[in-house]
Amino acid sequence: MLIGILEDVTNTVLDSIPQPGPGSTSPSKKRVLLLKPRGFCAGVVRAIDIVKIALETFGAPIYVRREIVHNRYVVNELAAKGAIFVHEIDDVPDGQRVIYSAHGVSPAVRERSKGRNLKVIDATCPLVTKVHFEAVKFAKQGYSLVLIGHRDHDEIEGTLGEAPDVTHVVSNVAEVEALELPDPNRVAYLTQTTLSLDEARDIIHALKEKFPHIVGPHSQDICYATENRQVAVRNVAHQAGLLLVVGSTNSSNSNRLVEVSRNLGTMGHLIDDSQAIHPEWLVGVENVAVTAGASAPEVLVEDVVKYLRQNGFEDVEEVEVMPENVRFGLPPEIVQAIGSASGSAPVPVH
Ligand code: SF4
Repeated sequence: MLIGILEDVTNTVLDSIPQPGPGSTSPSKKRVLLLKPRGFCAGVVRAIDIVKIALETFGAPIYVRREIVHNRYVVNELAAKGAIFVHEIDDVPDGQRVIYSAHGVSPAVRERSKGRNLKVIDATCPLVTKVHFEAVKFAKQGYSLVLIGHRDHDEIEGTLGEAPDVTHVVSNVAEVEALELPDPNRVAYLTQTTLSLDEARDIIHALKEKFPHIVGPHSQDICYATENRQVAVRNVAHQAGLLLVVGSTNSSNSNRLVEVSRNLGTMGHLIDDSQAIHPEWLVGVENVAVTAGASAPEVLVEDVVKYLRQNGFEDVEEVEVMPENVRFGLPPEIVQAIGSASGSAPVPVH
């Protein structure tokens, strides 16, 4: 049964997109350029798997703090299976099981869960956890911490909570210029995992100008999935008259893909699904590039491609800019649950 669940959440439906058969060279010049990599990242696959496995092994209800990933379709699908999405820990009844979303939580949230006797399953993406560890390390070493990101995003709320007294959130160069810190020689920076590479570079440059001794993380905090999807857009946008990004409006990495396209002069729009496409966007366009944010499922990409095919974009060409093959292990609570359900010893987590 569990194998069925994992197949259900991790498979790709690209195979089901009809490809032109031999001898069917279409007279249409209109094309869909389907970017790869696109869609689900390893952190999102892991988070969705965690909710589905928890529902299967423990049974409903399973509470989830905030949207498990920022995609309405995914959230609705999990809610239909019995997941109850709440805004805060206080909305979970005492002693119940709660899952933290892929965006992570602050230590204050962990404390509140303890106080309420909740059974916690942590679906925080390991790449977000890495940023939390860095925040704790810099704060312990006496640095003022500049956190580059969007204040209202769940991830920034969680990371900020690791060292709230010494952390300053900035989201643009103007905010760097206005920044006053107690010791300009002891400053460190970190970033949200889903920023625009270009924007982050400009902000980090401004920080280095203002605080020449500033230190940063050993490896960049912007994650591989965010970077790869932006690089794919950069490589292909010039071939297209329009870029459609499948993703929800509150998905940070999806919004950044639209910005990358627009900055390159290619019209870009963020769409939840094919119903959000305005027919006038397609007028006079020969090539439409299609990608998807890291939390958008492939089934919605398929829906968009089908719409485009029906509207004259008959050739679909997948453009693979780079291979991507990242997987994350499941958290111990879930590994143990699988072990108990199958009667076998728990498998180690990597
Ligand atoms: S976008 Fe990056 S940081 Fe966020 S869940 Fe995916 S892999 Fe993790």
